[in-house]
Amino acid sequence: MTKFAIIGPGAVGSTIAFELQQHFDDTLLLGRQEATLSYYPGNHMPMHQLQVQSLTATTAKVDVLFVAVKTYQLNTIIEDIKRITHQDSIIVLAQNGRTNLETLTLPNVYQAVVYISGQKEQNTVTHFRDERLHVQDSPQTRNLAQLLAPTNLELKLESHIEDTIWYKLLVNLGINTVTALTQSTAKVLKDNKVNHLCRQLIDEGAHVALAEGVNLPKDIVTQIMSIYEGYPDEMGTSMYYDIIAGRALEVEAIQGYIYRTGQKHNLAIPTITTTYTLLHGYLHSK
Ligand code: NAP
Repeated sequence: MTKFAIIGPGAVGSTIAFELQQHFDDTLLLGRQEATLSYYPGNHMPMHQLQVQSLTATTAKVDVLFVAVKTYQLNTIIEDIKRITHQDSIIVLAQNGRTNLETLTLPNVYQAVVYISGQKEQNTVTHFRDERLHVQDSPQTRNLAQLLAPTNLELKLESHIEDTIWYKLLVNLGINTVTALTQSTAKVLKDNKVNHLCRQLIDEGAHVALAEGVNLPKDIVTQIMSIYEGYPDEMGTSMYYDIIAGRALEVEAIQGYIYRTGQKHNLAIPTITTTYTLLHGYLHSK
């Protein structure tokens, strides 16, 4: 029987664990320490208690591992990941942005694009909407998608995952950057100058993606700006909430990754360079 584990009992990891545990008894939710979480699945379903076990105390080997810690926390758990997986385990990074998979020295790692929305406050996790992960199509992920078919967690197989990753990267690039730097919610896009800066960011990001050989729609800037238009004025982004709370930001996996890729291709990306530098400076001051 397949043994599942999820590292990171936050908004994303708890949702994955809850859905898997409805069908697979052998599913571990692993965190810094043992805990009991109050999990609200949404859709008026009642609260469900989720048991978290200590990652460092876990000795079991698992066949499928979902990693749902923040991108800047990944480096701290690499040795734990190695300890609890075997050479045929599948590791799915359920995180935003783009991690340089080559540096991880882990086999069978898949960068997912996450469409799961929720939030964690102390020991309470609330799931808002969506339960979908996009991953590269391969014989391994096809098997996994079949295993997950009875669950509410959808594994969408992509023939070119880089295209999906870059689309989400650019969606995050524009709105996360401007809401974090202005410390304002989505209403900040009503300011013409900020709106223009946001367009510039996506436009420069699209040039970087093009240089990487990524396939994006020709009207990507307009598409993403119209996605933002659907956001309620008071909606914040993860980076907005993190900066307001004085927490670390996932800058290196989003703005930093795009910036470094642009540098690699010798592209002039002044708006990305300036805004990334400011966010980098914020992180350095932490
Ligand atoms: P989160 O709520 O902060 O959850 C991360 C969890 O990992 C926390 O419970 C954290 O514990 C735990 N963790 C950190 N370091 C650990 C360690 N060394 N050992 C064990 N557990 C550890 O984050 P999230 O919102 O679920 O986000 C996870 C990823 O999904 C991020 O990349 C995020 O950008 C992405 N994402 C999130 C959403 C969303 O709506 N939340 C949507 C799309 C994508 P502590 O709290 O003790 O640090």
